[in-house]
Amino acid sequence: MRFDKLRLNGFKSFVDPTDLVIRDGLTGVVGPNGCGKSNLLEALRWVMGENRPTAMRGEGMEDVIFAGTTRRGARGHAEVSLTIDNRNRLAPAALNDADQIEIARRITRDAGSAYKINGKEVRARDVQMLFADASTGAHSPALVRQGQISELINARPKNRRRILEEAAGISGLYQRRHEAELK
Ligand code: ATP
Ligand code: MG
Repeated sequence: MRFDKLRLNGFKSFVDPTDLVIRDGLTGVVGPNGCGKSNLLEALRWVMGENRPTAMRGEGMEDVIFAGTTRRGARGHAEVSLTIDNRNRLAPAALNDADQIEIARRITRDAGSAYKINGKEVRARDVQMLFADASTGAHSPALVRQGQISELINARPKNRRRILEEAAGISGLYQRRHEAELK
């Protein structure tokens, strides 16, 4: 699965609409401490359905909304959209007639998150499953957070297995089995 573009609006320090075009090959994000490099990676995880505030270095999910500075007021919502190249037709059948897929997530203060795929409202689970099946989910080992290498080394075997399952692309199957068992 190839990412084409990430668009942020009101997400953490990215208060103004910002487009990050992701070209073929390796993309490096460089800049001084505190300029927002990690925030970019968090935006990517967030739009893929990450729901743990701690993974966003916050206490609540609303902490991803631009909180304001001495010169600019806080925002009431944040939005991130991710455009995926689907020319290789890896997306689930229902989406598979398009060359590009756009996933958008928006959070509004006191109203929680809403997701869209190609402009159509969907559930969080639909977005999470789309990425889990392509083994590029929010918890995917393809995205390595600052400090995560040492966490991996010190992880308990069960947690380490979860990471390997995600890498193998089978965590979507586990999720479905878990849901089937609950029915
Ligand atoms: P380092 O090189 O130290 O890892 P970095 O480039 O990864 O730095 P980030 O951690 O992405 O930097 O950005 C931190 C900045 O984002 C801080 O200045 C912080 O105040 C700002 N920030 C985080 N959340 C919000 C928010 N909700 N509203 C406004 N600014 C925020
Ligand atoms: Mg950082």
